[in-house]
Amino acid sequence: MRALTTDLGVGFLDLEELSDEDRMLQTEAHRVAAEVFRPAARALDAMTPAERVAPGSPFFEVMGTLKSLGYHRLFLPPEYGGPPEPLSPLAQALVLEELGWGSLGLTTAFLTDMLPFSSIAALGSDELKQQLLVPWAEDEEGRFHGCWAITEPDHGSDFLLGIRDDMDRSSQRGQLVATRQGDGWVLRGQKSAWVSSGPVATHAAVHAQAGADESLHHSFYAVVPLDTPGVRKGAPADMLGVRDDPQGEIFFDDVFVPDANVLIGSGPLYAVFGDQLLCVTSTTIAPVAVGVARAAFEEALAYARNRVQGGGPITRHKNIQLTLYAMFEKIESARAYARQALEYVRRTSIAGIGGPAADPGQAPLGASPRHSRAAQIMAKRVAYEVAHDAVQVCGAFGLSRESLTEKLLRDARCLLIEDGTIEVLALDAARDLIDHYETSDYDFEEVMAQW
Ligand SMILES: Cc1cc2nc3c(=O)[nH]c(=O)nc-3n(C[C@H](O)[C@H](O)[C@H](O)COP(=O)(O)OP(=O)(O)OC[C@H]3O[C@@H](n4cnc5c(N)ncnc54)[C@H](O)[C@@H]3O)c2cc1C
Repeated sequence: MRALTTDLGVGFLDLEELSDEDRMLQTEAHRVAAEVFRPAARALDAMTPAERVAPGSPFFEVMGTLKSLGYHRLFLPPEYGGPPEPLSPLAQALVLEELGWGSLGLTTAFLTDMLPFSSIAALGSDELKQQLLVPWAEDEEGRFHGCWAITEPDHGSDFLLGIRDDMDRSSQRGQLVATRQGDGWVLRGQKSAWVSSGPVATHAAVHAQAGADESLHHSFYAVVPLDTPGVRKGAPADMLGVRDDPQGEIFFDDVFVPDANVLIGSGPLYAVFGDQLLCVTSTTIAPVAVGVARAAFEEALAYARNRVQGGGPITRHKNIQLTLYAMFEKIESARAYARQALEYVRRTSIAGIGGPAADPGQAPLGASPRHSRAAQIMAKRVAYEVAHDAVQVCGAFGLSRESLTEKLLRDARCLLIEDGTIEVLALDAARDLIDHYETSDYDFEEVMAQW
């Protein structure tokens, strides 16, 4: 029924900027998205949560394929098998958009897999690199898989907004608490049911409150191998969308974490790091969301060219033409902004992560929270609006399980919550804007005097 068209995300920027290498990378990522991601994502979407995480599930096949193709090494430095020249931000955006076009869930799994290990590459000791990073980088079968365990049952937005918020932090007790023991920490508690790839992960990047009498914001960031005694997993969650990446709880029953695995200790640097990490995740998910939007647009366009109503293809009707145009305009704008924000954050965020302690009165170090959040919010909104319109263009077919638009709409809906709700991200951006946006020579008293 479906004939897929694709311009491979040819925004007007691409016409001038893409090198032969960029174009090859993009074409190959598109092949993986079309041939590996799409069929597996459809199959996983139709399975029960238990089936998705059972041995032999297409999820493991896809993750093994990505590892065999070396996708997990794409963002690593060359000494750990990454490309001889680090990928440019544009090349990163091209790959992320293509993968997002193929499947939001599988791309989320691909990204969360990388987080614990890329964190070790940036912040870990040589010993930890040999112990955890090297085996993961050399994995060609999908033996290892990472996840990001940040949110807790009672703390979703609290974690994302809390980093620079002025709410009463003392009342926010974490649900994963670390107690000092010898040369490390003992973790007790749990993370939320929404940890992407939680049920299948072998390693987690974990945020844990340091000390029972402290607050959530006195946390540290560590990498924990999930075969450590005391780790338990909850049943995989049954979600509306992003069903191709299983989410689930992780419980920690007195799990020992040596100091060597703590990448960022509790203290002022944790807030700087957390803020910069969110800048990186925001600008990483934005091109993925653009890919979701493009997938929906292309489905709608292909369908509209073929669907005959009123004596001809529905593309003859003005309402369909205007809808398709509006979708295109939104995608182009979101793509341009997402790429620019990613470029900016990749250039500046490391300075923030390695920089001096944050002073609450000063502008945040490194990458710009307001720009990275804005790029993420815009791309997520565009993905949802375009997926919504794509269903409308496709009529009843767009709502049927046979149609990809139905899945894309469910996935895009989840994007408005995944990695921070768009409202909370906007509040965080607004705070940065209000506190740090420079206005030129504005003298409030003088303006009032002239009134
Ligand atoms: C598909 C998916 C994948 C995910 N993957 C991961 C993962 O890999 N790791 C992980 O740890 N978590 C993950 N999450 C969890 C995700 O980060 C949270 O769902 C998100 O941060 C929102 O938290 P919450 O669901 O607890 O909602 P809540 O924080 O309870 O928010 C509920 C509502 O209240 C609003 N709200 C909350 N606080 C405020 C405030 N202070 N001011 C104004 N409004 C507020 C929100 O905007 C929202 O509308 C995932 C979620 C989804 C849907």
